[in-house]
Amino acid sequence: MVDVAKNLHEVLGNLPEGVRLVAISKYHPNEYIMAAYQEGQRVFGESHEQELARKVVDLPKDIEWHFIGHLQTNKVKYIAPYIAMIEAVDSMKLLKEINKQALKNDRVIRVLLELHIAEEETKYGLTLDACRQLLADGEWKTLKNVQICGLMMMASNVDDEEQIRREMNTAADFFDEVKAQYFADDPHFKERSWGMSHDYRIAVQCRSTMVRVGTTIFGPRVY
Ligand SMILES: *Cc1c(COP(=O)(O)O)cnc(C)c1O
Repeated sequence: MVDVAKNLHEVLGNLPEGVRLVAISKYHPNEYIMAAYQEGQRVFGESHEQELARKVVDLPKDIEWHFIGHLQTNKVKYIAPYIAMIEAVDSMKLLKEINKQALKNDRVIRVLLELHIAEEETKYGLTLDACRQLLADGEWKTLKNVQICGLMMMASNVDDEEQIRREMNTAADFFDEVKAQYFADDPHFKERSWGMSHDYRIAVQCRSTMVRVGTTIFGPRVY
């Protein structure tokens, strides 16, 4: 049995003032989520639309759900009624679909733009240049039902702390660049979502405002 409460408080104890925890509960049962909830945790992250839909029905309504995985445009409509934040937006097409579904539900959905900085080959995330281009294009300004709240990234899954630090600092510098250029007057643009179980202690030294920690709190996932 995993001691969720103890693990949760250990992680929270490692977070400086101003850094929020998104407890990543994908593949974990409702009882684990409730164990964290009872300790006061309210922000949880999931990466599969159907799993999330089941949990939303069964779990307390004041949970703030973040969608952290790759989201297909045809799935947006299912989560649009309740999702608090969609963290991994990596195309204009997805951003427009989120706006459309948010409008249908008469709400504003908060999103982060996902950067691809890691040296690893992954399919997801915007390169810095692609992100610059998306913002320079300006169409996002016409989307009134999405609120771009910052940036998200995953560092390379390596043991080399210096590499992780380099990648996170690149993301933090890039945040400053786009903040100054596009969001200087927008107080909502403030989130830097990086840091997972193996690297959140590095992330908080690299200006993360939001860490996404699963395994350290809930134990290994059972797929
Ligand atoms: C699963 C996942 C996490 C959490 O990973 P852990 O190693 O279990 O902490 C964080 N971010 C994203 C995008 C994930 O998919």
